[in-house]
Amino acid sequence: MSETIDILGVPIHYVTMDGSCTAVADMMSEPHVHQICTVNPEFVMRAQEDDDFRRVLYGADLCLADGIGLVMASRHLRPDAPLPERVPGSELVYHLAELCARNGWRLFLLGAAEGVAAEAGELLTAKYPELVIAGTYSGSPALAENDEIVARINRSAADMLYVAYGAPKQDKWIARNLEQLTSVRVALGVGGSLDFITGRSVRAPRWVQNLGLEWLHRLVLEPWRWRRMLALPRFVWAIIWRGSR
Ligand code: UDP
Repeated sequence: MSETIDILGVPIHYVTMDGSCTAVADMMSEPHVHQICTVNPEFVMRAQEDDDFRRVLYGADLCLADGIGLVMASRHLRPDAPLPERVPGSELVYHLAELCARNGWRLFLLGAAEGVAAEAGELLTAKYPELVIAGTYSGSPALAENDEIVARINRSAADMLYVAYGAPKQDKWIARNLEQLTSVRVALGVGGSLDFITGRSVRAPRWVQNLGLEWLHRLVLEPWRWRRMLALPRFVWAIIWRGSR
């Protein structure tokens, strides 16, 4: 895989959206399971305090710059070698579903509220008629449900897995089950992407995204996130401080 830039101890890969899809296609040709994390500044700040989460991000096969904050941080830390672009997980889920449809790979959707994964599966198959949804299940990241969920995914013979339990739960879920997943070759933490697919959450208009303000749009629509999003100013401060050393 491509090189990484270290952002406050978290390695982020130098890849574009196209490059990410190519990397995933390569991973799918290998017999073992790979983990992909869609990283934003909240992940990075969480990893400062959560050693397990930092280890998960460190061990992932691909850490993508999901948040614009990471691209901006890379410009500050490495003006000579910034990250090429943002790779939003909420867009990647469509590209990879299309890749699955083209290659006959079976996709399993895990997580989100009851019924959301099933509805997202229907909407994806309407968009990509060749796509085979191996299964959908809401479940929970609780340890008590772990083995039953893994068995369900293995029975489905899924090739690719989206896990929508939010960070860090989804990424820890994938990491602790890598050895137990028998057919999956790529497992991806997708955060709120299934909610976006089903229209339960709405992405910012393109011009707001282009201004790098998608996070602000989300805060306005989902104000209960304010406490979690305090990580953003802490992230900016930490990057400025690190870059000036
Ligand atoms: N979620 C879940 N179980 C949990 C926690 C979260 O199914 O125990 C789901 C939630 O319904 C949502 C998704 O995880 O669909 C992502 O949650 P959130 O929006 O908090 O994640 P983010 O997009 O901020 O990573």
